[in-house]
Amino acid sequence: MSWEKRYRQSATKKLIEQYPQCCFCAGMRPATTREHMPPKSLFDGSHRPDRLVMPSCDECNRGTSTADLTAAIVCRWNYDTDDVEVGDHNRLVRRLRKQAPDVVEEWTNNGNPLRPSKGRRHLRRHGVPVPVDAAIVTIGPATIRQLNIFAHKATLALYFERFRRPLAAPSVYSAIWRTKEDMHQGVPSSLLDLMPEYGALLQGEWDTSETFEYRLNINMDDGLFAFIARLRWGLFVSGFVVGAERDRGGEDDWMQSGDLLLLANTPRFLSKL
Ligand SMILES: [Zn+2]
Repeated sequence: MSWEKRYRQSATKKLIEQYPQCCFCAGMRPATTREHMPPKSLFDGSHRPDRLVMPSCDECNRGTSTADLTAAIVCRWNYDTDDVEVGDHNRLVRRLRKQAPDVVEEWTNNGNPLRPSKGRRHLRRHGVPVPVDAAIVTIGPATIRQLNIFAHKATLALYFERFRRPLAAPSVYSAIWRTKEDMHQGVPSSLLDLMPEYGALLQGEWDTSETFEYRLNINMDDGLFAFIARLRWGLFVSGFVVGAERDRGGEDDWMQSGDLLLLANTPRFLSKL
């Protein structure tokens, strides 16, 4: 057995012994694997520090891998890309095309030549400068669903990272994602002011904050948690958690904690939240 495989097995065993419940299905199934959030594929060459790992059951791990891949690709849709980014992007698209062809086909949408120019006009009207040679892709329901799964998964993962327990009843939560076009004027300072703490994926001198970083606010006593994360320069994810005993106002935006994979199959996940 290779050293790396041996290391992975013992790290998994250790994590599961300490945290036996999966953090993505509210502990409904026992954890059997170590899941990475953000996923390895987000980083150059899928190389990342071995921190920010969570206990996951096999179902949740496999059932959210398309969401991980989709997010890793979308967040590479930058204006300035380097060779490594382009190479990784193409490799990930090939993987996704095998795993979930409907998502990839949606981007190149139906060969309708009017769509790109329409998309470009729409963005310019909203103050987003689009380079002439930029490719315009369509984000439709299949992609939206995967990004919704990803945003909720990230919320459950970062909640676990801070609270060291799965997000479970009576807590409720909500999660959203935004593209760089949505955020072209920057992250609203009103939002950042609410989240004074800073988090990143670090290991010794190894700092990956250029690829991933987040701002957060946390109140352990009341089970309150809020964060906004930047993934490369193409995708932003934000999540909010409240203990259910608090008055939440309009309840419609909030979801009961439970099995993420069940939630992923609800019609609500087909539109951008
Ligand atoms: Zn699970």
